Amino acid sequence: MLTVINPASEKVLVQLPEDDAVSVANKVVQAKAAQPIWAACSYRERAQAIERFSQLLSEQAGDLAATLTAETGKPITQARAEVRTTASRVAFFLEQAERVLAPETVLADAELGLQEQITHEPLGIIANISAWNYPYFVGSNVFIPALLAGNAVLYKPSEYASLTGRSIAALMQAAGVPEGIFQTVLGDGKVGALLLDHPLNGVFFTGSYTTGSKIAVAAAKHLMKVQLELGGKDAAYICDDVSVQTVAGAVADGAFYNTGQSCCALERIYVHEAVYEAFVEAFLTTVQGFQVGDPNHDETYIGPLARSAQLTVLEAQVSDALAQGATLLCGGKRLPRTGFFFAPTVLVAVNHSMSVMRDESFGPVIGIQKVKDDAEAAQLMADTPYGLTASVYTAERTRAERILSQLNTGTAYWNCCDRVSPRLPWSGRGHSGQGLTLSTYGIQTFTQPKAWHFKAWL
Ligand code: NAD
Repeated sequence: MLTVINPASEKVLVQLPEDDAVSVANKVVQAKAAQPIWAACSYRERAQAIERFSQLLSEQAGDLAATLTAETGKPITQARAEVRTTASRVAFFLEQAERVLAPETVLADAELGLQEQITHEPLGIIANISAWNYPYFVGSNVFIPALLAGNAVLYKPSEYASLTGRSIAALMQAAGVPEGIFQTVLGDGKVGALLLDHPLNGVFFTGSYTTGSKIAVAAAKHLMKVQLELGGKDAAYICDDVSVQTVAGAVADGAFYNTGQSCCALERIYVHEAVYEAFVEAFLTTVQGFQVGDPNHDETYIGPLARSAQLTVLEAQVSDALAQGATLLCGGKRLPRTGFFFAPTVLVAVNHSMSVMRDESFGPVIGIQKVKDDAEAAQLMADTPYGLTASVYTAERTRAERILSQLNTGTAYWNCCDRVSPRLPWSGRGHSGQGLTLSTYGIQTFTQPKAWHFKAWL
């Protein structure tokens, strides 16, 4: 049985039956039987089901957000924002998919009687193994375009977001997506591994680098398509020509939103020495103003961590930094209350020999390092095996572009951070992953192109 715990109260919410080898195998059989029928439906029929799903999501947003908060500890206003914003991502896919999936004629030569065409066939049966931190976002980035393209989806929500996974499946059914086409597989990593024992047509994974490496190995056995959206150690650089008050507030939000548990949360901040003191003071004031507490309250900005084990990771990062000479400006420890709460933590006088500046923290902990110029900032920002996002805050766009173009990241931000757009590809490089979701490329990724050569008989 899978035990679902409320991270704010530490109480058991429910126990759910987990999938096992037999039930997973049955679900694969059902998906295989259903997928050709779904793929043979018209695009309009598939799109109508997804439109209904989106409508139901919006209608039930309040209850869905409450469930998300109960099982992950996400502050309720942020849970509501996630559910509501998901509907706008679905709208993007619905606007674009028909055009992207339509056959393309790339040559029509009447004299030769030759036509060349590309059609976009679905991959077939795909596994969507997902994370808990934004289950609606990272799930829908995969399952919505995958379904629109005619695939069957075996959706394994994180064991820390199983109730949300079940809610999504119930909405899919109510929306008219056939039963075999969208199925949840419930359980922890062992159950995820069982899924990949089957020769599926692709695995689309969101999670940590460590698990992502295992997924790639498991997928290689069947030569299935692999897409990995992994962690990050995202950096921001604050130049000497900014208004520190404004930037400090925005950057603190980028580091601490969702209690720092975002793949693209700021995890490292570099500040030009000319504005360093003023920036740190303004940043600290913002962080000390964050309301920490019950995630069910509208005024709460920082809730508990979703997983108790991460408390130990954060404690180890703080003590390693302090042992190597860092200065703690606030936080640094668990809060003495029920629930997996860690105090918002700011460390300065940090450097890259410290784990807090190298390894993903995935919690409300940030290190701020002083730099003498743009060259030093760029060199430090590049000093990571991860490559998800990077941001530069400056009055000059060309200065930001000069620095960001040197960095091996999937996303570059000028005067913003921790931002995802459905219109742009979302991808990580190096330890942050391979492949992409979102944008029109994130629709095509669920298809395999077929090359047609039509030669009229002469
Ligand atoms: P995780 O790697 O612990 O788990 C992710 C999923 O993999 C879960 O569903 C888990 O049950 C499953 N799993 C674990 N072992 C498995 C195995 N051997 N075979 C198959 N499945 C297995 O990650 P998490 O804690 O759920 O998520 C946090 C991580 O995800 C962070 O590193 C975060 O940065 C990353 N993330 C990345 C993005 C992105 O878009 N790049 C988005 C959200 C989260």
